[in-house]
Amino acid sequence: MTKRIFRSICLVALTVFVASVFLIMGLLYEYFSDAMQAQLKMQTDLAAQGVTNEGISYFHDLKVTNYRISLIDMNGNVLYDSASDIAKMGNHLEREEIQQAIIKGYGESRRYSATLTERSLYCAQKLDDGTILRLSISQRSIFTLLLGMVQPVCIVFLIALVLSIVLAKQVSQKIVKPINEIDLDNPLSNEEYDELSPFLRRIDSQQKQMRAQKAELAQKSDELDTIIGSMNEGMILLNSKGKIISINSAAKKLLDAGNDCIGSDMLSLCRNLELQDVLAKALHGEQGQNSIKLHGESYQIDADPIVSENIVKGTALFLFNVTEKEKAEQIRREFTANVSHELKTPLHSISGYAELLKNDMVKEADKIPFAGKIYEEAGRMIQLVEDIISLSHLDEGAGDMQWENTDLYTLADKAVQSLEPQANAACVTLALSGVPAVINGIPQLLYSIVYNLCDNAIKYNHENGSVMVTIENENNKVVLSVQDTGIGIAPEHQERIFERFYRVDKSHSKAVGGTGLGLSIVKHAAKIHNAKIEIKSLVGKGSTVIVTFPK
Ligand code: ADP
Repeated sequence: MTKRIFRSICLVALTVFVASVFLIMGLLYEYFSDAMQAQLKMQTDLAAQGVTNEGISYFHDLKVTNYRISLIDMNGNVLYDSASDIAKMGNHLEREEIQQAIIKGYGESRRYSATLTERSLYCAQKLDDGTILRLSISQRSIFTLLLGMVQPVCIVFLIALVLSIVLAKQVSQKIVKPINEIDLDNPLSNEEYDELSPFLRRIDSQQKQMRAQKAELAQKSDELDTIIGSMNEGMILLNSKGKIISINSAAKKLLDAGNDCIGSDMLSLCRNLELQDVLAKALHGEQGQNSIKLHGESYQIDADPIVSENIVKGTALFLFNVTEKEKAEQIRREFTANVSHELKTPLHSISGYAELLKNDMVKEADKIPFAGKIYEEAGRMIQLVEDIISLSHLDEGAGDMQWENTDLYTLADKAVQSLEPQANAACVTLALSGVPAVINGIPQLLYSIVYNLCDNAIKYNHENGSVMVTIENENNKVVLSVQDTGIGIAPEHQERIFERFYRVDKSHSKAVGGTGLGLSIVKHAAKIHNAKIEIKSLVGKGSTVIVTFPK
């Protein structure tokens, strides 16, 4: 801008200078022409007097250098000319100054010569004898005048040029300085130029708009960062060259990456072949999926190409922890195998006994015990199927069961009463102590918790042992504990006994009518009630299972 203003000022100054030179020259030229013409008139008067007194002989000794003198008769014929041969000269009657002199007695004119480099001034005076005396003088044209003044004009031009450069520089800097000093952060605080006010107001409103948009964008970006950052799934964004442009904390943790991993190659972070495979696919525009093992857990990798205008601009990588899912699938598979196996054994027994009876291969005295065995195995199967049904019902969340305020003590009393015959048969004393404790829950499930725990405490007890069921009512929780003096559970089994079909001693469990599902049902039912299960056991001394229900 400074340069532009500087150039403009210089240009204007020089234009004014050149125009002034021409104007002044023109004016001076006219002024001097008039002066010359007046002098020429005077000279013409003097010469006219000479010619009137002396006749044509006046010209004989006349020495004229600057002027040209001509004498022309009334018909326009040149009688004398100081510059040319009169024989070669044409008729001068039509000359303007001659015409004027014939009519008015005096005439004058100014004419350019053919080359335009010279102009002639003419004065003509009619003498008493009718002849006309004409004096003329050459005057250089304005251009030749200028040419003659080239040197001084150039000097003045140079001085003007230097002056205009210096002044133009100062002026342009002075004009631009306030513009350069505008505080764009506070556009409205600048008052130097009124003409800039609309422009500054516009900047101010645009800045406000931009600040609002920036704040909105920052908020959205924060929200997105928070969402991505708090995701349990790993998320990585890669550019088209496979370099990391964004990575959330879950992914960093999984791949043991630091904060400096942005911009580094994904494959330098994780050299896993499956990952390389899906990444290569995604970078070619194909969706890829695979599973990998990281830190001993299973992860599913999803790689989605980010395509814009048919060009792969990058890849979004997602890492999902599928360990639980795989475990659940494995449990389901094992469960099916276990169920088939558990059902097969009693079925084989039933089928064997029935076959012997059918073929009449059993002694009369053994028939009743055989029928008893069939009944016992059928009972085991029924128990097993009932447990499976309960468990699958719990797996589905037991959503159809009614929640109500239930007194756990009353339920425990009912369970204890119904298990009394088994306890007596096993020579185990069963007792209940505690206080009424109301919790909100599903009565059937709460009953099955107490029932299964008491059942186990009787089944895995010693002869003449005891089972003590206690219900305690604390501030914000109800504690059910079932303590027995039984065989106890070794520490390595304590966690596993809640797995489906897990038994510490399979034959003992079967001998006492166990299905291996009782504690799984307890675990699920407790989970539905947000209850916590704790087990304290010593082999040979007995076990205590404590279930804590929130109120
Ligand atoms: P089961 O039908 O075999 O009793 P559970 O799921 O109820 O199945 O129990 C799993 C295993 O845990 C049992 O087989 C048994 O070995 C062990 N167990 C459960 N409760 C007790 C207890 N009170 N004392 C000793 N062992 C127990």
